[in-house]
Order: sequence, then structure tokens, then C-alpha cells
Amino acid sequence: MGMFDYYQPSEKIFCPDCKIELGDWQGKDSICALLLWKQGQCFPESTLHDEEIEMPEEVRRTWRLPEKFTFYSYDCEKHCVWVEGKTENEVWVANRVVFVEDLEKKYAEAKRRYSRFR
Ligand SMILES: [Zn+2]
Repeated sequence: MGMFDYYQPSEKIFCPDCKIELGDWQGKDSICALLLWKQGQCFPESTLHDEEIEMPEEVRRTWRLPEKFTFYSYDCEKHCVWVEGKTENEVWVANRVVFVEDLEKKYAEAKRRYSRFR
């Protein structure tokens, strides 16, 4: 299932180029079951509202993030910002922006490639 999890860092993270505050984070380095990982907490929260497909809490409580994981935000119109999170003793403790993807360049490139095949 091409899914992901949500991430909620405890500190504000901004686009390094545009200084726009980024709020919606997703990542695929964990279980990818639309769970919500919150910084400072060792197990994820459920974001599902349909109780029939909800994982049992005792199972969810056993899940952990890996030592290092990445998540990203498309909140900045011009950039996709990638952040690396780090855990210590199974708890998410730190973040660092590792990559700023230029979306305008990416879309222009995709458009250019696509037009060649028409
Ligand atoms: Zn930006």
C-alpha cells in the first residue's frame, strides 16, 4: 500500500530558503500505516477514525522509529524540505534539515521531458 506516516516535530521547522514555517510532515521510513509519530513519544498515535480498521493499541505501543529516519514537507510552494530525525533510547529527540528540493526546477524538468515525447 503506497502509504506513509505523519510526523510531528516538537520544534518549528522552516524552509531554509523562504523562511516559511512547515507544518505537515510525512515520511515512509516507518510502518506507513497513517500513524502519527510525535517527537518525544516512543510509540505512534493512530490517526484513523474508523474503529474497524484501527490497530489494537497494545500492538501500536510496541512500534518504534528507527535510529535515523527522514520525513518531508511540501508546505513551501517552492521547495520540498527533507528532515532527518534521530532517536535516542527509542525516543525521537532531534531533527536536522538534510535536503531542500527545488520544486520549480523539478517541475520544469518534468515538463521538458514530457514535451519531448509528444
Ligand atoms: Zn522554500
